[in-house]
Amino acid sequence: MPDIDRDINRDIDLSTEITELLADLVRIESTNPSLSSGGVGEASIASWVAAWCETQGLAVDPVDSGDGRPSLVVRSRPAQSRAESAAAQSDAAQSGPRPATGTLLLCGHLDTVDLGAMTDPLVPRVDGDRLYGRGSYDMKAGLAAALIACREAARLGLDVDVVVAAVADEEHGSLGIQRVLDHLGAGFVADAAVVTEPTEMAIGVAHKGFVWTEIDVMGVAAHGSRPQLGVDAIVRTGTLLVEIEALGRRLAARAHPLLGPGTVHAGVIEGGQGPSTIPERCRLTIERRTLPGESPTDVEREVGQLLATCAAADPDFRATARTVMHRPPLETAGAHPLVAALSGACQDIRADTPDVSGLSYWADSAFIAARGIPTVLFGPGGDGAHADVEWVSLRDTADCARVLVQLARHLGTALRRNEA
Ligand SMILES: [Zn+2]
Repeated sequence: MPDIDRDINRDIDLSTEITELLADLVRIESTNPSLSSGGVGEASIASWVAAWCETQGLAVDPVDSGDGRPSLVVRSRPAQSRAESAAAQSDAAQSGPRPATGTLLLCGHLDTVDLGAMTDPLVPRVDGDRLYGRGSYDMKAGLAAALIACREAARLGLDVDVVVAAVADEEHGSLGIQRVLDHLGAGFVADAAVVTEPTEMAIGVAHKGFVWTEIDVMGVAAHGSRPQLGVDAIVRTGTLLVEIEALGRRLAARAHPLLGPGTVHAGVIEGGQGPSTIPERCRLTIERRTLPGESPTDVEREVGQLLATCAAADPDFRATARTVMHRPPLETAGAHPLVAALSGACQDIRADTPDVSGLSYWADSAFIAARGIPTVLFGPGGDGAHADVEWVSLRDTADCARVLVQLARHLGTALRRNEA
């Protein structure tokens, strides 16, 4: 007969503990220095999280490239017990297909956007179910849930390795996740990954990618009093902008079931030397949000067609384009066993079937999935990501941790079933 009182107390302890951990994380500024010049970076929060993990008996591996932007790899099981499992798996592998590794990768970012015009952004304030503060929702709550889940997996002695990637720079260039994946190496295999970005407790299986294209439209400079001697690069960019809008309408006709259509917009425009000069150059940076199946090469072809259309209509139109940044989309099949296992874990904890949905934002998940690891997003509800009032639901945060522990349990059972 289980000791029900002890279990209830344990659960109350977990809620209190995760609230305190989240509050501690919010108190430590970790604004991304690539987004704003005053950003302090991830060094303080990473060393605090590493120290917390050590007090909890978790193995911590810093991933530091010496630029003050550290990430951490945290593990629920010490190297020795992982080595024993690996040896057993390699024995088994000789007599059949490669067995599952029993590894669940959780990922959360350490950085936040800047503090904006928030009131007391680094003073966590609890009001009912809400905890307010910069990064509470995006995504220190998800990070706290992942860390607590890892610690619980260790405490319960689950035979699944729960690995937490606590990464830098998600809000800008995703340096952290790329460095962590490099650090783990090509030999690292996980059965599943959950990125604990806020999803309102839905299972996020898809998000768009994006491609940034810089287009230089060339004109011929001339004095403003003699425009017939010049070619106005800014006016010609206007023609291009009309074509970009038309592309947007064409894209709207083809929708992904979870993500809607791909989109395109003009993000930045700059050009011209002065009011009395015919501008010789105008630079336009456009962003194309891509659907699963659309590659940077597809976008380059699309942009090439836009430029060709403009040139066909105007012999003076000259432009060059180049891709300056791109990130892949994410799409994990809704029928993947990870989705069923996570959904089952949610039902166990919340007596509620979670939605399976697409997400409007891009996240580090795409890098993990690109390594062949089945990846979804799952995290608490709240509001105000990147806004001046940001809060997260404390009940969701604690439930998120419980669901992740339950998933780790289910994953172990599912793997044993596969091996049997
Ligand atoms: Zn985020």
